[in-house]
Amino acid sequence: MLKGNNVVLIAVGDELIAGLKKEANISWLSAELMLRGQDVVAMEVIPDQEEVLVDMLDRWAGRVALIVISGGLGPTHDDRTREAIAKFLGLPLVAEKDVYDRIISRYPADLRESLERSGERQAYIPSGAQPIFNPLGSALGFSIDFKGTKIFALPGVPQEFREMARVVLDFFKKDDEVCVGLCKVVGWPEIKLKDHIANIIREFPANVMFLPEPNIVTVAIKGPKHIVATLQGKLMKLMKGDILPENASSLEDAVVKLASKLNISLAFAESCTGGMVGESVTRIPGASSVFAGSAVCYSNEAKEAVLGVPREVIEQFGAVSEECAVAMARGAANIFKANCSASVTGIAGPSGGSERKPVGTVCFAVTCFQRCKSWTRHLQGDRETIRLWSNNIALEAVWRELKDLAEKSGRNEGSN
Ligand code: ATP
Ligand code: MG
Repeated sequence: MLKGNNVVLIAVGDELIAGLKKEANISWLSAELMLRGQDVVAMEVIPDQEEVLVDMLDRWAGRVALIVISGGLGPTHDDRTREAIAKFLGLPLVAEKDVYDRIISRYPADLRESLERSGERQAYIPSGAQPIFNPLGSALGFSIDFKGTKIFALPGVPQEFREMARVVLDFFKKDDEVCVGLCKVVGWPEIKLKDHIANIIREFPANVMFLPEPNIVTVAIKGPKHIVATLQGKLMKLMKGDILPENASSLEDAVVKLASKLNISLAFAESCTGGMVGESVTRIPGASSVFAGSAVCYSNEAKEAVLGVPREVIEQFGAVSEECAVAMARGAANIFKANCSASVTGIAGPSGGSERKPVGTVCFAVTCFQRCKSWTRHLQGDRETIRLWSNNIALEAVWRELKDLAEKSGRNEGSN
């Protein structure tokens, strides 16, 4: 009962299975097809093995409207896509000499001889298939119909795949009605967020996806424009001040945009994040108008010498303490002459923890003009995860301070 707008995408490649290469073709095509109103019902990543592809075709061909296969069309023995499709269809492979000659005529003479030899494999497609010209490489693509399913086989080199996939995409008009809306919710654990917006999910289960990252959950809403707009409106209402504004692609983007609007300068003092917070902010174009600097002070001596953290604070409370975090944030505001600052000092692990301060203990402080706030979080995960959480928690704190200033001055994030 499938067919209709249903699509299956298959990426062939041992290197994808081995995790040596990140799949980039069918994941891209899937998003493009969705915007054209198609429903991708399965995306399979399989090794360069003929029998696996035959099994896949056995499972889906004749049941969905479209199957697109990426990869395995090259000249080497392990490129088996054309053989697998021919075997499944019970068709012989025949040479598409004309199209292949057109392809290789673009190459310099010294390569042509090898390409002509490669043609003994690359020029062959199943009998009755339509060849698809490759404007960027030497592998031929092709399409063939089987029991109401259009099967496309395209080369796996990402530039070639995207270029040649136009033939597939041209079948479908970009559907103005279908879109994806992203709501980035800050500071909510996914598990609590899902309960908080349970009514929305119950009403539109197929339209809502959760994409959790450290300290941010992106709620992706896909569907017809009017549904996306309605759901976004409902989410905004439910989550009030915890959603990044629509014009911000990330927390750091929201921070830079709002600080620019308010004409506020920013500084950071970082220990366990080792400069990540400063790096995040400098990734945003326009950061130079608000970002003064970030001091990476890993050792106690550096905290003392650069940021002016009093030795007694470190001796009495330790480098991972709210007292130290406050002194670091104040120090950063002072040396960089910034209006707002934030600091991070913690134990990212895997070693360095103690019973009183286990791995994952991270202390933060944020200052904004005269105000100063500090707090401690006990984070879970490996070293990198703890560092990413710390980065996003520090950025969240600055974002909330800026929002507070904006509210007080009557200049909200969305307004100009
Ligand atoms: P063809 O010669 O038809 O392009 P192929 O795509 O299988 O066959 P490979 O030599 O296996 O050729 O791949 C060429 C390059 O493209 C490799 O670097 C490979 O990792 C990359 N590649 C292949 N498929 C994908 C994919 N789905 N996503 C990202 N990269 C891919
Ligand atoms: Mg391959």
